[in-house]
Amino acid sequence: MTVVIVGGGVMGAATAWHLARAHGVAVTVLERDASYAMASSALSACAIRQQFSTAINIRVSQASLAFYRTIGVTLATADDTPDIGLVEPGYLYLAATEAGAQQLRDQHALQGSLGAMTALMLPDALRERYPWMHVDDVVLGSLGLSTPTSGEGWFDGYVAMQAFRKAAIAAGATFVEAEATGFATDGTQVTAVHTADGASFPASAVVIAAGAWSAKVAAHLGVTLPVAARKRDVFAIEADAELQDGPLLIDPSGVWMRPEKARGQFLCGAPPRDGDPDDVPLDRVDHGLFEEHIWPILAARIPAFDALRVTSSWAGYYEMNDFDHNGLVGALRPWRNAYTACGFSGHGLQQAPAVGRGLAELIATGAYRTLDLAPFRVERIAENAPLLEKNVI
Ligand SMILES: Cc1cc2nc3c(=O)[nH]c(=O)nc-3n(C[C@H](O)[C@H](O)[C@H](O)COP(=O)(O)OP(=O)(O)OC[C@H]3O[C@@H](n4cnc5c(N)ncnc54)[C@H](O)[C@@H]3O)c2cc1C
Repeated sequence: MTVVIVGGGVMGAATAWHLARAHGVAVTVLERDASYAMASSALSACAIRQQFSTAINIRVSQASLAFYRTIGVTLATADDTPDIGLVEPGYLYLAATEAGAQQLRDQHALQGSLGAMTALMLPDALRERYPWMHVDDVVLGSLGLSTPTSGEGWFDGYVAMQAFRKAAIAAGATFVEAEATGFATDGTQVTAVHTADGASFPASAVVIAAGAWSAKVAAHLGVTLPVAARKRDVFAIEADAELQDGPLLIDPSGVWMRPEKARGQFLCGAPPRDGDPDDVPLDRVDHGLFEEHIWPILAARIPAFDALRVTSSWAGYYEMNDFDHNGLVGALRPWRNAYTACGFSGHGLQQAPAVGRGLAELIATGAYRTLDLAPFRVERIAENAPLLEKNVI
């Protein structure tokens, strides 16, 4: 069996590693840009949380967190011991309305039933724990508090992606710098993947893991996927602020902020204000979004951010699944040997270890063995049965 994977970002690389290492399958990964200049995996905010509103997302993040905690051992190769610098100060969701607070309470119950512990915090408790934060308008907060550490935090996603890539190669996978431009089929099965340089890669199975470009690749197989490239801006800021215990903060406005490693350094962002068009070029960072929207909101929430400077900014694509903002994982019908892992809508980096493991099981053994990823099945689109995730940032 030879599996050809289109896309060598974190999803493609994780799937390749699991296929090669756990199942002894021959794998070729086609990645059109070995520098990963536009890959979401290289432009991410790299955070991991358990505060989702759907059971499958909670379970996937728990499994992936366990993997990321031990990645230095699991993906070590002869010349590389990956250090992704995972820290777990938690996510703090704030609600400023009773409806928002009720949503946090509902999710708290679901999360707790799955072992993802969160603490619901009233304003006084928030003030005590985070004296640097203004919470007069807040009704309720929800903080990740699984033991022994919170189970939520952030890490270096680029290092994680490269670790999967290197370990996959060490396990026998081949990465080729080439752009997939089409497929050969026998009518029911894909037999090969064609590339822009005129080469052809015979395949007994194919995986489309092309991130924000997955719909374009799937179109070559006549399959429509509701996945679009939606630009998201990230701003790195510097402020004379020591935010003790600083979590990844999700403001009721949708603005997010998290500390970086160095003291006084932070990352922040927000969804776009006016529409969310496809394929906006990545060099068009919306600086007005920071000046007019993010900064005023952050300064009101954290008075120490009244004075700050933007040290850098960048943009990357969310691989947005317009159908229900969740991953599309599994068989790609009507083809008997085509699969996908795409559409993660901004939470794919944290899901890659568990999704790669599951997809490899499905391809190599015909079924999910460890964690049932059936809720992510692509068929839910045709069935009009959305898997709605309320917590998409
Ligand atoms: C600003 C931002 C913040 C984010 N924050 C988080 C976060 O906090 N936590 C989290 O979990 N996730 C986050 N994400 C989302 C996360 O980064 C993605 O879900 C994840 O990286 C997707 O990985 P991927 O491998 O599917 O896609 P990618 O990393 O984009 O990889 C796809 C690869 O496919 C290649 N490709 C495309 N077409 C072809 C072709 N025809 N032939 C060959 N190769 C092709 C591309 O070159 C690319 O390298 C964020 C994303 C952004 C942009």
